[in-house]
Amino acid sequence: MKNEGITRDYSCEYFNPDIETMSRRQIEALQLERLQDTVRHCMNSEFYRKRFEEAGLKPEDIQSLDDLRKIPFTTKQDLRDTYPFGMASVPLEQCTRLHSSSGTTGNPTVILHTDKDIDEWANQVARNLWMVGLRPDDVFQNSSGYGMFTGGLGFQNGAEKMGMLTVPAAAGNSLRQIKFIKDFGTTAIHAVPSYLTRLKEVMDKEGVDPHKDTKLRVFAIGAEPHSEEQRKRIEEMFGVKAYNSFGMSEMCGPGVGFECKEQNGLHFWEDYYIVEIVDPETLEPVPDGEIGELVLTTLRREAMPLLRYRTRDLTRVLGRSCPCGRNHVRIDRMKGRSDDMMVLKGVNIFPIQIEKILMQFPELASNYLITLTTDEDNDNMTVEVELEELFTDDYQRLVALTKNIQRALKDEILLTPHVKLVPKGSLPQSEGKAVRVVDKRKVYQ
Ligand code: ADP
Ligand code: ZN
Repeated sequence: MKNEGITRDYSCEYFNPDIETMSRRQIEALQLERLQDTVRHCMNSEFYRKRFEEAGLKPEDIQSLDDLRKIPFTTKQDLRDTYPFGMASVPLEQCTRLHSSSGTTGNPTVILHTDKDIDEWANQVARNLWMVGLRPDDVFQNSSGYGMFTGGLGFQNGAEKMGMLTVPAAAGNSLRQIKFIKDFGTTAIHAVPSYLTRLKEVMDKEGVDPHKDTKLRVFAIGAEPHSEEQRKRIEEMFGVKAYNSFGMSEMCGPGVGFECKEQNGLHFWEDYYIVEIVDPETLEPVPDGEIGELVLTTLRREAMPLLRYRTRDLTRVLGRSCPCGRNHVRIDRMKGRSDDMMVLKGVNIFPIQIEKILMQFPELASNYLITLTTDEDNDNMTVEVELEELFTDDYQRLVALTKNIQRALKDEILLTPHVKLVPKGSLPQSEGKAVRVVDKRKVYQ
């Protein structure tokens, strides 16, 4: 039912005003109450019952938010070990949906949902879309893959709950996407950032000017790490505001964290999750501002609550207040996953660091590929990047540009990669999340 019959005040900045504007004290009181409920509910799960027994822990031991730290972490391996249904906290007959992760880093994992889980997930997504100024008179086009990938149905349900006309365009087929954008008067799109740069290339080829020929005004971009520079590029290319959207299938999917209009970090919804940032080695909490691994505890999930789930995403807390009036914690854009980290000649490097540098060169387009090889026992990195415009006839200029890029990369990552400038459109394009690194070293190990 659209908006469940509620007539909303379009001028109100908040979708869930009471929850969104809670003080820190109110948020924490609500979290403790919900944490205690969640822990009690987890005892219906064979997995957690055993975990608690092994740790000599009882639900009554959780008397404060600090007591959360007594609870052992849950890992992706635990999800794999209990595949498919071993972690459920309700009988299967109460579940109405199953999703799985896209399996970027191994076997897929299964997440179960009840009707209520799906409804609350939609509420999170609706809250985010409202937060960035969308209203029921907007037209929302979702270019995520539908199916197991949560970006499809997750945004679909959320945008519908908010009351927007929602176009399930699904992934790929840029010509069709452009036709929909024009014919339906699409004002907002959800996409992986790498896809939007591709879409713009097709628009250029077709002579479609997003400023003149479309009504686009908001993008939700996420599902993959991207730099601030990449975001700015997208915004400038289209003349559209692009808001960072974070989610993962283990936590439902999209909706977990989203930027507000201030674009000063992602608000993580603390009525739904407890956010911890821990040192990935010692697993001790790190102070606000320091980078560590994001650990999330679900506070409302029925089918499959997760306690202290290690996401492997690296980020930091930016603050716990915001000019937008929301005191839900602000989290920095993801630096990457711990598994994305490349170790080359003893130096730790994230693809996003390379992207940040490349995007500073206006001569370069947005698509790039990092290849790691072992040549005569030496690890090497090659960065291939597409040129915005071909000027292969000007050899001197190409050499100078290549050297400048190399120098800038060396300042950032402390070693000098090979840099290859290639024509626009020549690097592989994936339909979902972009593949940024090919590690050919593995065959030698
Ligand atoms: P998989 O784990 O198979 O990739 P998911 O679709 O659940 O499947 O992916 C969730 C992961 O995607 C997150 O843990 C994170 O690494 C990445 N991710 C999602 N949104 C963002 C974002 N806005 N910025 C950076 N990384 C993101
Ligand atoms: Zn804010």
